[in-house]
Formats: sequence, C-alpha cells, structure tokens
Amino acid sequence: ITSSDPIENHQICVCVRKRPLSKKEMGKSEADVITIPNKENVIVHEPKLKVDLTKYLENQQFRFDYAFDEHANNDVVYRYTAQPLVECIFEGGMATCFAYGQTGSGKTHTMGGDFSSKGQQDCSKGIYLLAAKDVFKLLNSKYKKLDLVVGASFFEIYSGKVFDLLNDKAKLRVLEDHKNQVQVVGLREEVVTNTDQVLHLIQHGNTVRTSGQTSANQHSSRSHAVFQIILRQRVRNKIHGKFSLIDLAGNERGADTSSSDRNTRMEGAEINKSLLALKECIRALGRKGAHLPFRASKLTQVLRDSFIGDKSRTCMISMISPGMSCCEHTLNTLRYADRVKEL
Ligand code: ADP
Ligand code: MG
Repeated sequence: ITSSDPIENHQICVCVRKRPLSKKEMGKSEADVITIPNKENVIVHEPKLKVDLTKYLENQQFRFDYAFDEHANNDVVYRYTAQPLVECIFEGGMATCFAYGQTGSGKTHTMGGDFSSKGQQDCSKGIYLLAAKDVFKLLNSKYKKLDLVVGASFFEIYSGKVFDLLNDKAKLRVLEDHKNQVQVVGLREEVVTNTDQVLHLIQHGNTVRTSGQTSANQHSSRSHAVFQIILRQRVRNKIHGKFSLIDLAGNERGADTSSSDRNTRMEGAEINKSLLALKECIRALGRKGAHLPFRASKLTQVLRDSFIGDKSRTCMISMISPGMSCCEHTLNTLRYADRVKEL
C-alpha cells in the first residue's frame, strides 16, 4: 500500500495465488504459462496461432495488491491477506476473505479444508484455522477487557439453498426482517474457547460437506462454503464483529448454463449470478452510495452485513492453475479479480 496513491482503497484487497504444477500435470509435461516476476504482477503467456498457423505466445500482464507464486505457503498467503483483517472484527467491523477460482486451482487448500489423496484431512495449516488462532491471541491480550465470547458456524450454499455443516446438513431458511437485517434461521453457532475446538469443527464440517460424494471436488465445485468466526459481547450476547471466510464454487461452473442436464444448467446459472453479484457488492464497499445488489443471490444476501459500513474490510484471493490447458479459465479469473479492485 503506497501513500502516494490517493485513490487506493484500504477496504478491499485483491490478491492472486498461483499453485505449483501437480505431479499429474508434470507427468503429462504440461507447460507452465504463468510468470510472477515480482510481488504484484502476474504475466500469462497465452498460446496463440497466427493466420499462417505458426504458434506464438501472447503475454498479458495484470497487477494486484499482492501476487503469490508457487513457492508461497499458506502462512505467507495468510500474513498478507486475512491476518490484517482480524483486528477489524475486534474494532467492531465485519471482515470477509474469499477464495475465488477454477476448480482445482487451490481454493480449498488455501482456506483449510484440504483432503490429501489418501482422504486424510489437514486443516491445521489453512486460513480458517490460522485466523482462529489469531482471534484467540487478541481475545486474550489486547482486547481482553472487551469481555467477548467466540462462536463458530459453518454452512454451505448449494444451488441457492443453505445447509448447516455443523448440523448434519440441515436445510436452513434465510429471512430478512423489517430493518433489512438478514438472518439464517437456526444456523448452529458453537461457542469455542481454543483452536483445537475450531479444528474439530472444521474437520467435522468438511466431512459432512463431502459425505456421499465420490470425490471431495465433485460437489464442492458447485457450492460455496462459508466459515464464520463470530465475536459476541458476553453480557448481552450482541454481535460485536464477524469474520466470514468463504471457499467459493468453481468459477468455471458459472459457464455450465448451456449443459444438456437441467440441474447442471440451473446450478450454473445460480453460480454465475452469485459471482456477478459478489463482484458488484465488493466494489460497492469502496464507493459511497453505490448500488448494492445483495438480494441478487443467496451468497450476497447472507453476507449483506459484510458489504456495508466504514469498518468492513474484504480480501479476495484469486487462485490460478499454472497449466497451459487452464489458460482460458486463468484469464477469466484474472479479469474478474481485476474488475473487483478497479475503482
Ligand atoms: P479447489 O478447492 O480450488 O478445487 P484444491 O484446493 O482442492 O482446489 O486443490 C487441488 C489440488 O491441488 C489438491 O490436491 C491440493 O492439495 C493441491 N494444491 C492446491 N494448491 C496448492 C499449493 N499451493 N501447493 C501445493 N499443492 C496445492
Ligand atoms: Mg475445493
């Protein structure tokens, strides 16, 4: 963040993370078409054909608040993205951190719902848990006299419906009261006092999320997962601040609107709608009086609180795959991220 740039918006941070080539991609000798020359820029080398059919690479450059290459681990990514937002919820604000990108680009790995190839989970190194750790740290030191209680909830939005991952996928209703307050009715909120408890909740929620699925990615590519850390006043139980960490549906699914399968088509349309509304809602955060189309999708509706107020802060981590075969999706991801930060 440079002070020389007066229109820099401190409420919105947009970053890109490139994952390494997988063993499988390396086995197929897939080319890496992404270069991250410094901490801000991303260059895509897109293969193209001239009219005489000779091949060439077209370079397209993008600039973000931060760009993480394949050597950055979750700790580093966390330090520059979600960590600066933790304090905001103690100051009474709403914080959100989104993982955006194509299926297989590393959203779940980053957020902390990782399943290894053996089906084992290691959520201890993801942003969900790293954020919870810092929440407890601040709760017991700098903000001790606020006397706050920490709660956690975990749900998913699938085809415009909300399911509670801490309550056996119970289907929940979303209601808006006369004061425009949005409520997910009956959403379970567990009181947590240490990171071990949070880890258990994440593991449990992940298992519920993927149960009955042949692969962890099959269902999660079509649903948004929302993990929330909620600070409440001990005495009045009133919400003091909230951190929402969201593992979004695969953005390529938004293009499934011409599928021959009706369900797939409907889901695709819903995902498309929610990602478009999300972009507009985040952009509105940086502009006074901007239109906030939060009712356009269930995702933006349940996150309404996060898009209003001077104290709200958002971070979007756009994940990209390095492979040549993903080039088109990667460019789509970068263009979307570019639009989110553009003022
Ligand atoms: P998504 O949730 O976007 O569909 P995943 O997080 O499931 O993608 O990642 C796909 C695969 O790539 C997983 O096996 C994951 O462990 C691996 N992966 C993703 N990001 C990284 C990374 N930065 N470093 C190493 N492996 C990664
Ligand atoms: Mg995933």
